[in-house]
Amino acid sequence: MLEQNERTGGQLHSIYGAVENYPGLHASSGAEFFEHFSQRVADAEFDLWTKVEIERVDVKAKRVYLRSGEELQSISLVIATGVRRRRLGIPGEQEFVGHGIIESASRDRKNFAGRDVCVIGGGDAAVENALLLAEVCPTVTLINRSKALRARPTLAQQLQGQHCITVFPESVVTRILGNNEVEAVEILRKDALKPFQMAVRGVAIRIGVEPNTDHFRGQIHLDDDGYASVTSQQETDVANVFAIGDVSNPLAPTISSAAGAGATAAKVIASRLGGH
Ligand SMILES: Cc1cc2nc3c(=O)[nH]c(=O)nc-3n(C[C@H](O)[C@H](O)[C@H](O)COP(=O)(O)OP(=O)(O)OC[C@H]3O[C@@H](n4cnc5c(N)ncnc54)[C@H](O)[C@@H]3O)c2cc1C
Repeated sequence: MLEQNERTGGQLHSIYGAVENYPGLHASSGAEFFEHFSQRVADAEFDLWTKVEIERVDVKAKRVYLRSGEELQSISLVIATGVRRRRLGIPGEQEFVGHGIIESASRDRKNFAGRDVCVIGGGDAAVENALLLAEVCPTVTLINRSKALRARPTLAQQLQGQHCITVFPESVVTRILGNNEVEAVEILRKDALKPFQMAVRGVAIRIGVEPNTDHFRGQIHLDDDGYASVTSQQETDVANVFAIGDVSNPLAPTISSAAGAGATAAKVIASRLGGH
């Protein structure tokens, strides 16, 4: 198992709320859930390499080249690289990381208490973040590219009665501005000729996720959004190369579906090797 970070667990470490939708297991946070998982994993026999940097993967040959110079040859390959937050690609987005870009509203909102902030996006994560920030910030502006929010109706309804949250529909942020810290965003409203600036001290960018399939592009079939296409056995269009979890599941990305996909791939691989 090759993991780029210091520890495994992926997105579980970003879940600050309770995990309530995994059959038979309830956890008050992703970290607690990870503890349950890792206790079982510790009993299993496998090699785990962390802080690994993959240089490239030859999918057909099932050979992985690491930046350290090492090469790994396998019989089967399982891609479980998950997803990452989508980026806007606008000036200021990268420069102000740690200086006003809000990485986690649940973890960091106390640092933004008393400050005017904005959230970019209109899905579940954007609305959830706006509601969390509204607990401590005097104003929260939700800037959404489309006319209507994409968030679950139950979540979007919670915006009603939140007097400090304002929604800007059909608007995009074109720049994040400031000296050492975020001081303002530049907003362009649909049909407006010129953008305008709005003073904010924090910006949460929640415009969805994209799959981590860069190493596999051009080697396995990806859908239009870059997700790995798989059969009901979790196999890609290259024999003995599987993809499991969020990287191949844009419609139902959950822990239980990721674990289920992993179980399917493991079973198929074992049966082909003559195991059970
Ligand atoms: C805030 C939040 C709340 C959520 N709440 C829930 C919930 O309540 N219930 C639920 O079921 N799901 C929830 N989810 C979704 C759930 O976390 C994911 O569905 C699940 O983690 C997917 O697991 P995965 O293994 O496919 O991918 P990930 O968790 O994304 O893990 C992918 C792993 O691959 C590693 N990796 C990526 N690229 C490379 C590379 N090139 N080399 C080496 N390693 C690499 C990453 O570092 C990471 O460790 C939530 C997600 C978030 C962000």
